[in-house]
Amino acid sequence: MNKDIQLFRGEVFYFTDSPLERKDAYYYYPDGILVVSEGKIVESGNYDVIHTRYQGIPVTDYSGKLIMPGFIDSHIHYSQSEIIGMYGCQLLDWLNDYTFPAEEAFSSPEHAEQIARFFIRELLKNGTTTCMAYATVHPISVESLFAVASEYNMCMLTGKVLMNRNAPENILDTTGKGETETRSLIESWHRKGRNRYVITPRFAITSTLDQLESAGRLHAEYPDTYIQTHLSENKDEIASVLSLCPEHSDYLEVYERTGLLTDHTVFGHCIHLSAKECERLASAKAIIAHCPTSNLFLGSGLFNMPQANYYNLQTTLATDVAGGTSFSMLRTMGEAYKVQQLNGYPISSLELLYKCTLGCAKALHLENEIGNFKPGCNADFIVVDYASTSSQQLRKEHLVRIGKWNIENKLFGLQILGDDRAIQATYLMGVQV
Ligand SMILES: [Zn+2]
Repeated sequence: MNKDIQLFRGEVFYFTDSPLERKDAYYYYPDGILVVSEGKIVESGNYDVIHTRYQGIPVTDYSGKLIMPGFIDSHIHYSQSEIIGMYGCQLLDWLNDYTFPAEEAFSSPEHAEQIARFFIRELLKNGTTTCMAYATVHPISVESLFAVASEYNMCMLTGKVLMNRNAPENILDTTGKGETETRSLIESWHRKGRNRYVITPRFAITSTLDQLESAGRLHAEYPDTYIQTHLSENKDEIASVLSLCPEHSDYLEVYERTGLLTDHTVFGHCIHLSAKECERLASAKAIIAHCPTSNLFLGSGLFNMPQANYYNLQTTLATDVAGGTSFSMLRTMGEAYKVQQLNGYPISSLELLYKCTLGCAKALHLENEIGNFKPGCNADFIVVDYASTSSQQLRKEHLVRIGKWNIENKLFGLQILGDDRAIQATYLMGVQV
């Protein structure tokens, strides 16, 4: 057995619970060790204590670097990788001007595979080891992403976009076609290796109630699949939904009545929620994906984290590339901090990190696989350099000098100043990728 053991030395950090529940709900070993065998976590702890049990096994030494679970990005459009940073007004204009034309190209299997490869490499380079991604209306877009993720043994959650109105003809399906294609993709890919299927009605503007009902039925038929969609991102969007569905009292009710409000549903954005919507999201244990770089870029608004926390909502963090402007979850945490500053809520570095590691894994019912270093979890982890730029190095030296080089300041510096340069290595199931 011993020859399969891998040892990693460094500053080992992971959460055991929410920092909102308990401020010290994490393990942090400044001189720590992570023990991995056959792709799984065996144990972690203080180097001096644990290393004695593994004499003679070589140690990969990342001393002074942070070893932590890989990031989970709960809302991202792989099909929009090419259109990141495109100037273009607000959500609905941006969809028409850039998104829909880019998604048309995914009818080509070569194009889909090329972008899937770019997308996964970009995620791994940024330390993201799991994501929930939107593909396009084309089944081949899903197959390409699952296939490339499988080559890397990466935990990938994705699904074919369901969209039968209010978009160009060549990227629309119909209720029947969307349902047949989704069912066949679930049968072929869901729970094959580390792949999980996500039933993906884009949002209420581009799906008829009939199609949303079909999506709800599919989830009822396969209850361990996920659902992803968008909710209350933009005020024009909300007005448009309510005019398309006049017999509904609010936006959430459209998803609620069609069977899409579940504890496996990830709602992107949720910026303009009423108290009533928050209560229903909370009692359903639904999941929110807060996407700060996208919300700022498209001028959608400021997500209300204090309100979400008050209602005990499960909020996760996400890039929303390519409404979002960076693949980096470090940048995303930094922008989330600034958004909450404007809400008068200077969110802590621990709360931010929790929401894209263990907090997200728990929301997705995956905490026994990812997001932490509990024995038996998959060894998806990253090695992070606190000072990959000269500015971070100078900041570090200052904090060391004044005796404040502690974990909160280390993490906060990464969130405000870090990007892909900070990610020194990414491991999936114990293999460096
Ligand atoms: Zn989105």
